[in-house]
This record gives sequence, structure tokens and C-alpha cells, in this order.
Amino acid sequence: MTPIKIESITKSFHGETAVDAVSLDLASGSFTALLGPSGCGKTTLLRLIAGFERPDAGRILFNERTISDARAVVPPEERNVGVVFQSYALWPHLSVAGNVAYPLKMRGVGSAEIERRVAEALATVELGGFDARDTADLSGGQRQRVALARCLVAEADVIVFDEPLANLDVHLRAAMLETFRQVHRATGRTIVYVTHDQAEALALADRVAVMDHGKLLQFSTPEMLYRAPATGMVARFIGRGGVISAEVTPNEPGRSRVICGQTSFFARSQGQPQGPADVLLRPEALRLVDAGSGGIAGLVRRSTYHGPAYEIEVAVAGGRLVVDAPHALALGSPVSVAVDDAWVVPDPKSS
Ligand code: ADP
Ligand code: MG
Repeated sequence: MTPIKIESITKSFHGETAVDAVSLDLASGSFTALLGPSGCGKTTLLRLIAGFERPDAGRILFNERTISDARAVVPPEERNVGVVFQSYALWPHLSVAGNVAYPLKMRGVGSAEIERRVAEALATVELGGFDARDTADLSGGQRQRVALARCLVAEADVIVFDEPLANLDVHLRAAMLETFRQVHRATGRTIVYVTHDQAEALALADRVAVMDHGKLLQFSTPEMLYRAPATGMVARFIGRGGVISAEVTPNEPGRSRVICGQTSFFARSQGQPQGPADVLLRPEALRLVDAGSGGIAGLVRRSTYHGPAYEIEVAVAGGRLVVDAPHALALGSPVSVAVDDAWVVPDPKSS
């Protein structure tokens, strides 16, 4: 299988930097999500990995072999990369089986083997029995599955996805996430998956690379992204929660005291930060308690039903918090918020 090493890769278009000195080590057989807001450089990085773009600087290695640098690029068809893009790129005049068989036909594989491998790939993406269908009659999700089956028969060691679910409705999306996970488990391919949807990234990937303005902000497991975001941008981008400005003092290694208005609480931290800092508070680590019974004092600014609970936004010293409550609260009511867990966001200037 194929590990991918990305070394300080940079790409600009007309003087604007789309990907800015990004380095990433993707283990063989890993599932990596590239996550970030629209325009942050995800697709460009994916196209660099797949071989559709030449970097201005840096290099990319597949299996320790340089396949892209500023001088030369090994084209996609020679680097064994399979591509599943949002526009499905299927041949409209070919059946489902014809589309999936296409890369094998191009290689002159015998028809009995083609039939066997196409059937196997269609079964893997849960399209068994769809062989003779016209691709024009398929739903968006089914077309994605055909595109994925085509990558699988081609035995691409690396499969890259660019926002494959962006056109699908929410139920179909959940089913496709399960298919992607299943295909990854069953085939062990190295997968790079671009999305702007954090829920998709957290649910799918072993590790997530968060990008903003062409730069890599954090590369870690979904749990670490959520629990210990490396920057304020990551803290605000991933999950629900509030980031407040507060004063922190060291308590013990890995733990700080945070002063917020008239009260203080403990937070996890990296090292021993001191002074003004951003502090992340997740809703599940907060409880509304009676006003005046300790906790952070604040005023209700928003109360929104979101299914099982009401999401309450509370203005406090230094910012706004988000807390869940079983019932709506009147705007402007005074409340108190007790803190079970928090995280001092590292200051990029001090590291
Ligand atoms: P994302 O996929 O995260 O939305 P892109 O990689 O598509 O971001 O784009 C990053 C930046 O590079 C954007 O500002 C975009 O306009 C620019 N860009 C991407 N591709 C091209 C191109 N072929 N020509 C000019 N500018 C481009
Ligand atoms: Mg894109």
C-alpha cells in the first residue's frame, strides 16, 4: 500500500497563495480528511496529491518516491490514484458495468476477469445487480457508488474524494458515509477526503487536517481536534461551543485556573499559560445552575430548539457560551453556568 509524504508544498494562482507550505505524513491505509471553509485550499491540495497540479515549491512522495516537485509531476494515471469528485464524471453512454469496467478494458484485461472484478466492486459499494442499468437513471448517491467502484476495480492504492456528498440529501449522506467506512475497512486503501463539513470529517477519518487560508492549522485525531483544538479558528470551526477571552494562571502542569468575571474555574491547558487567553467551553461540559449559586454569571441572548434540547446562548464576561437546557429561557434572564471542563486554546504567538 502507499504512504504519502507531503513536504512543505506551496501552490499559487496569479500571485495568490492557495496552498501555503503544507506538510503532512499520511500513513499507508489511513483515512485522512482535509477540512476547512470554502476557498481554504482543500481542492488545490487534493489536486496536487492526485497529480493534476504542479507545486511551486515542496514535494510529494508516494511510497518514498518523489512524484511531484516544482520541476516534474508524475501524471495521475501513472501514480495509481483513483478520484471521486462531486460531479460524478461517469460515461453517460455506458451502463453501470460499462463504467466500472472501463479502466480494466483500457488495460486489456480479459472479459471473464473483468466480469468477476466488476461484480466484486459493485457488491462492495452495495450496487450488486445494477450492472445493466443506465447511469442516467441512477440517483446521485448511486452515481457516487459507481465512481467509487470504478476506483476499486482499477486497484488504485490511493483514493481521493472531493466533497463527494455535497449534492446529496442528509439521509443518503449518512448511508454513503457508512459505505465509505466499509470500503476503507474492506480494502485498506490510503484515502484522502476533502470536505467543508466537520461532522463528515469527524465521523469518517482517522485523522483530520484542518486548513485555513492555505495553511495547515492542525493535523490530529477527531477526538483531539474536538477536545484540544490548536488554534482559535479550529476551536470555533469544530463542534459547538463558546470561546471566551479570559485571564489564565498556571495551576499544575496541564491544568490552569481561568478567571471569568467574578468567578474562576479550572481548564485543561498545554504547558503553563499565563495572562490573557482564549478559552473553549463545550455545551456538554456546562450546566445551568441557579443564578447566584456560583458559576459564571450571564444573560440569556438566544434560546433555540434543536431537537432533543434547547440551545441557550449566554453572554458572559469575555464572550458568549452555549449551554443546552431542557426548556426555553426568556431572553435577558440572568443565569449562572457551572463549568465541568474547558480548554485553554494555545496562543500561536507563544509557541
Ligand atoms: P477549497 O477547495 O478549499 O474551496 P480551492 O483549493 O478550490 O479551495 O481554492 C483555494 C484558492 O485558490 C481560492 O482562492 C481559489 O479561488 C484559488 N484557485 C483554485 N484553483 C484555481 C485556479 N485553477 N485558478 C485560479 N485560482 C484558483
Ligand atoms: Mg473545493
